[in-house]
Amino acid sequence: MRVLVLNAGSSSLKSSLYELDEPVPQSPAAPLWEGRVEWEEPFSNVRLRAKRHGYPQLEKQPAIQSERDATGYLLQTLWDGPARVLANPAEVDVVGHRVVHGGAKYSEPTLVTTEVKEEIRRLSAFAPEHNPAEVDGIETAERIFKSQPQVAVFDTAFHQSMPMHTFIYPGPYAWYERGIRRYGFHGISHQYCAARTAEILNKDLESLRIVTCHLGHGCSLAAVQDGRSVDTTMGFTPLEGLMMGSRSGTIDPGIFIHLLRKENYSADRLEEVLNRESGLLGVSGVSDDMRHILAAASKGNSRARLAFDAFIHRLRQYLGAMIASLDGVDALAFTAGIGENSPEVRAEACAGFEFLGLKLDGQKNAASPVDCDIASPDSAVRVVVVAAREDWAIAQACWRLARSA
Ligand code: ADP
Repeated sequence: MRVLVLNAGSSSLKSSLYELDEPVPQSPAAPLWEGRVEWEEPFSNVRLRAKRHGYPQLEKQPAIQSERDATGYLLQTLWDGPARVLANPAEVDVVGHRVVHGGAKYSEPTLVTTEVKEEIRRLSAFAPEHNPAEVDGIETAERIFKSQPQVAVFDTAFHQSMPMHTFIYPGPYAWYERGIRRYGFHGISHQYCAARTAEILNKDLESLRIVTCHLGHGCSLAAVQDGRSVDTTMGFTPLEGLMMGSRSGTIDPGIFIHLLRKENYSADRLEEVLNRESGLLGVSGVSDDMRHILAAASKGNSRARLAFDAFIHRLRQYLGAMIASLDGVDALAFTAGIGENSPEVRAEACAGFEFLGLKLDGQKNAASPVDCDIASPDSAVRVVVVAAREDWAIAQACWRLARSA
């Protein structure tokens, strides 16, 4: 079965093609083909890359006019041109779409119907940067792959198992009735990371209490018990929780009232500041990229050091919160750009939990670990590094759904 995965964002679209055979391998497979198209807003300066295994990457700057054209153009490289791996579009069996917001309705990957599309569109009010682009991606794929099933895999779905006392905000109950509640995000990554952690440790997922740490541009933690999310740090939007690259994470809501009342902020300006001018970038004034923060801090830049220290402080705070939600912890799992690649962040985060008997193996931590356990043999808590594979997780989900249909 050939599964095409689409991950549409507001300024990029990533896609990959997998061939899955029975039995589906537990450990991740390499894609047959990968493509990516990026643009600047308003739509301009389009860059396209596509590659098939064993061939040089195709790079283009196509002269196209819209996001929808970009999707179609990228997908055409599947069967047309030097990166092609198919004879025609009919050779794709299923198309899987990452959808950021599935609201309270979707707790599983779901076959796309007119109603499902309508619901994703309705939820755009909660995820204006993501859901509209994802509906566009679905509709473009429907035009190209006319008879194949389309599957929506939601980033919120994994967290639908959170108990109500965890997802309700302590505001008026009427908020909850209007959909203002915690949803959590990065669910595809957290779910995959927890399952992979159990495999790496050779344990039953159902026997483990895991805190999964997705630390990329966006950062969130999840408390996973028996393979189910029981708590997470992001909430109604991806702004809640940890300090991130350019997002603030949780800050006193009184600041918003002050800015609106005393500094004439508009809602749009507030959104801009909290999403794009805060976090590592806001505090350091250097960059939203952890590599640049670490480099500047090591050269004595005090604001870069402050940004790093604040990032770690908040990471430890929320790790403590997730451990409390789990009544203890068997494993911490680090994934995504920072989680996979920064031994400094892992070491500093873990140093806060030595009182629990957590002992990191310094050499293993420093040796670019991929999908392995980096705790000392006598550590009371395992620590693993997991390569993020959201695309593969979506392909697996589509395969399972298509097989059971
Ligand atoms: P996204 O959330 O956009 O998918 P990624 O998972 O690729 O992002 O993570 C991007 C983050 O990973 C950036 O902050 C980048 O600095 C960080 N990162 C990548 N490599 C390293 C590294 N070697 N050391 C520290 N941080 C890194």
